[in-house]
Amino acid sequence: MSSKMLDAFLKENLEDLKDKGLYNVIDPLESPNGPVIKINGRELINLSSNNYLGLATNERLKKAAAEAISKYGVGAGAVRTINGTLDIHIKLEEKLAEFKHTEAAIAYQSGFNCNMAAISAVMDKNDAILSDELNHASIIDGCRLSKAKIIRVKHADMEDLRTRAREAKESGLYNKIMVITDGVFSMDGDIAKLPEIVEIAEEFDLITYVDDAHGSGVLGDGAGTVKHFGLSDKIDFQIGTLSKAIGVVGGYVAGKKELIDWLKVRSRPFLFSTALTPADVVASTKAIELLMESTELNEKLWENANYLKAGLEKLGFDIGNSETPITPCIIGDEVKTQEFSKKLNEEGVYAKSIVFPTVSKGTGRVRNMPSAAHTKEMLDNALAIYEKVGKEMGII
Ligand code: PMP
Repeated sequence: MSSKMLDAFLKENLEDLKDKGLYNVIDPLESPNGPVIKINGRELINLSSNNYLGLATNERLKKAAAEAISKYGVGAGAVRTINGTLDIHIKLEEKLAEFKHTEAAIAYQSGFNCNMAAISAVMDKNDAILSDELNHASIIDGCRLSKAKIIRVKHADMEDLRTRAREAKESGLYNKIMVITDGVFSMDGDIAKLPEIVEIAEEFDLITYVDDAHGSGVLGDGAGTVKHFGLSDKIDFQIGTLSKAIGVVGGYVAGKKELIDWLKVRSRPFLFSTALTPADVVASTKAIELLMESTELNEKLWENANYLKAGLEKLGFDIGNSETPITPCIIGDEVKTQEFSKKLNEEGVYAKSIVFPTVSKGTGRVRNMPSAAHTKEMLDNALAIYEKVGKEMGII
């Protein structure tokens, strides 16, 4: 028999979410997560995946993963510090450091996990963290876990950052102060102002932490936002995920050797959660090798992104301040946004609506994630559907 208190809690809260239209409906895919997906027997043009370069279904990665399973099996068998570190984990970390132009790197089981691990390994209750208000949930949770004082900074507002950095420094209350930001913001596709952030960090001796989940594989010829700005030697923590452009799963920190050594002895998911599987590790290593060998996929991604963005703007949609392939179509009203996404789906485009509280009230949007794997024909079809639904609903 289950607890009455739990039953009451679940009933009330689930109903509340459903009433507010905030209960996530999950559509299982009956196909790989490629440029076209199959849901409920219907084929849809997929504009919702983070598989920016199409690597999730890349034949060379699949072959590498299959060989890794054949040689090492399906699981690593232990946490990294007991005996879950395989030689291929070390090879992946060496590749990541090379890719990010840093001395060393450490891999984690996910990007989320990585933020939980890395922030709390270095920051504690005697410290402060200056965090952009639009930072990802995993950064927010990582900051909370550290027990450091969290100082929210207005999004991309360098004056606010400078003021708060000065206040924190002059208060004398904190041993260490960190500035933490997404490299690319996932809801709007804008890029963090890293040159200014670095300047402020130098002025106030801040630790710099950039989560480049959406910039790696995308900006800086694929190497990420930090490389895009030529700041590889100025950022202490370069965080990335293996789950988006890299096409697999996992996360990592790249930085100075001493920092990585410290994370290996102090970050809890590294010490207490089983290591990435052989298939993930080898497929990720192969993906990074492909990115370092050639910028072809990266160029294709940008070509497609620019094509889709220009097409949507020409039709009269508001795509906000996006500077990257993440392309929001800002509709505004929450209910209308959800209706728009639903109609796109009925016509053959899978593009998810994102509404309050994930984004601020009145800025509901349908978010589009074009990839290198889309063909022009797919994008043209998607644009034709956008035009039809947009006109029907009086949005354009
Ligand atoms: N950081 C940012 C900025 C992200 O956008 C995401 C993914 N939504 C993550 C971390 C989490 O990465 P992962 O999916 O690998 O856990």
